[in-house]
Amino acid sequence: MKPIPMVDLGVQYERLRPELDAAIAEVMAGTRYILGPNVQALEAELAEFLGVGHAISCASGTDALHLALRAAGIGPGDEVITSPFTFIATAEAICYCGAEPVFVDIDPQSFNLDPEGVAAAITERSRAILPVHLFGQPADMAALSAIAEPRGLMLIEDCAQSFGAVHEGRQTGSIGQAGAFSFFPSKNLGACGDGGLITTSDDAMADEIRMLRNHGRRVDGYEHEVVGYNSRLDELQAAILRVKLGHIDEFNRQRRRVAAAYRDRLADTPLETPFEDGLGRHVYHQFTTLVPRGRREVFQAALREASIASAVYYPTPLHRQPAFSDYSRAGSLAHSEQVAERCLSLPIFPEMTEAQIDRVADVLEQAA
Ligand SMILES: *Cc1c(COP(=O)(O)O)cnc(C)c1O
Repeated sequence: MKPIPMVDLGVQYERLRPELDAAIAEVMAGTRYILGPNVQALEAELAEFLGVGHAISCASGTDALHLALRAAGIGPGDEVITSPFTFIATAEAICYCGAEPVFVDIDPQSFNLDPEGVAAAITERSRAILPVHLFGQPADMAALSAIAEPRGLMLIEDCAQSFGAVHEGRQTGSIGQAGAFSFFPSKNLGACGDGGLITTSDDAMADEIRMLRNHGRRVDGYEHEVVGYNSRLDELQAAILRVKLGHIDEFNRQRRRVAAAYRDRLADTPLETPFEDGLGRHVYHQFTTLVPRGRREVFQAALREASIASAVYYPTPLHRQPAFSDYSRAGSLAHSEQVAERCLSLPIFPEMTEAQIDRVADVLEQAA
């Protein structure tokens, strides 16, 4: 039996090969490799798609978070409230600014920040809330905005896993003061290398981000207004992303198809399928189930035996990571810890076939 990976970028490349190869060849022949016409066109197309005033590309999703927080004025002494149940980059970006991440527990069903916990964690030093739209499900932005706005807190969205997800009719990344996206190859909109994007409708923030990503200068030249970074998306990646952007609605529709099929097929197993909170459109970057406590290894072993990949996103919440061993704020973040013990993500990608979904479901049924 052919292995089933978590994500199959090979079938996608085969399908888009004529378009992608032509786009790559054009960049190669054009020899403009940095901040050229594809980056400019991609940024305009993304701003339009996401419904924001500015879409500014950069070198990675991690950089996108860092630059967004920097441009939001986050610095030493500030606290930024975020989720402990996420990829470490979310919290790293806060630390890069010299600020302190404050971890608040998740809602155990949506896996996203619990707004009540956020409200309770606000102190005089709080400057921003950084929700993650985890696995492609929008966080409860209405509730978080209602907390942030009256208190003058910035709301910065980690959209690394949510390209194309919608909350109350608005694209993620267009709701807070800024959004940060990743174009890591396996993300819903993925490049063939690293890449990232910051979205904002605030002109001053956009201006600052454009300077920060390119050594603190406004135009090409040697006048540097601030100390910035080298964090640019290259033309090859931009050209590839423009091709894939033309297919993103279809990709996300197919991810939802796979999720619906899994939900059907897993109904008779003890696996809890992902909860949709009804607040928006989930784009299933991951299909993350909850396995009965202590049984995860049994299901993973059965899948492995059948050459089917599975993954634990994430086994250790950030407040329990060695990197944050001096983190003293968190009492018990019980939901994050319980979910980390029980979560199991199954293969999902737009091109996944019914036969592949059946194979995964059959193995899980038999292991149950
Ligand atoms: C992937 C990811 C990032 C980081 O993106 P990179 O492009 O890999 O730097 C940040 N936050 C979350 C939630 C992610 O999944």
